Amino acid sequence: MPKVPDTQENFEKCVCDRCPTWTAAPCPKEKTEKLYCAKGMTACGLKEKGCICGACPVHDENHLTGMYFCIKGAAK
Ligand code: SF4
Ligand code: SF4
Repeated sequence: MPKVPDTQENFEKCVCDRCPTWTAAPCPKEKTEKLYCAKGMTACGLKEKGCICGACPVHDENHLTGMYFCIKGAAK
């Protein structure tokens, strides 16, 4: 079972769409993608420009320690 549940509730809680890495490129918005800690890495080829996962309720609730799930892949 994945560490973070891939649910609509978590999708709505995810703050990726407010982070500088996500907003710097049009691709994630066009694909309506986020919740990378559950869904895995992006195919958008994002470059690290700051990660705000630490300020996200999903990060807290699932006791995550990592960041940049959009680039590094889902939380394990
Ligand atoms: S921890 Fe990061 S990737 Fe996971 S839901 Fe929160 S902001 Fe999105
Ligand atoms: S995983 Fe982190 S860096 Fe990637 S889009 Fe979400 S908040 Fe931004």
